Amino acid sequence: MTNPYPHWAGAIRDVADFPRPGIRFKDITPLLADADGFRAAVAAMADPWRAAGVQAVLGVEARGFILGAALALELGAGFVPVRKPGKLPGATLAQEYALEYGSDRIEVCAGAIAPGTRVLLIDDVLATGGTLAAALLLARRLEAEVLGAAVLVELDGLGGRQRWPDGLPLQATLAY
Ligand code: AMP
Repeated sequence: MTNPYPHWAGAIRDVADFPRPGIRFKDITPLLADADGFRAAVAAMADPWRAAGVQAVLGVEARGFILGAALALELGAGFVPVRKPGKLPGATLAQEYALEYGSDRIEVCAGAIAPGTRVLLIDDVLATGGTLAAALLLARRLEAEVLGAAVLVELDGLGGRQRWPDGLPLQATLAY
């Protein structure tokens, strides 16, 4: 049987019990530190979107900034940061979302993009899907034309995909 994972996937490190007991954290920092691996991972994430006419990438803080900015350059698109509360200046749009215990909130600058801008959402990992679903609501409140979302890693069995609308593309480069 052939190995279904690209060679650079081995640079993603599993860290047990981080940031809390029971979580197996997918640490992409060794991949980012590897010039060839980083480039290959960004190219693989970009491939399904090269002909999609992406005008802006919305990347979710913090690792979605790193991958999202690289993808924006790769796709010839702009970059819009989706941030944790209180980090963005001026008027913002905010979206709450449920966590396993409690809730969290992400924000984007009001008017960050013109209505109708063709947008791709980016994050590093899709787990329960709450973050990406909240980013989608923010993009829709910006009146973006959302083309879909791309994550580097999808964690199976956590229900992330069920929280994403049927029929809207959600590309995962790797699944575990
Ligand atoms: P979720 O909203 O549950 O889909 O979680 C996705 C967000 O939390 C992403 O921004 C990830 O960076 C982070 N995250 C959740 N679970 C993990 C994990 N096991 N390893 C790395 N990052 C994770």
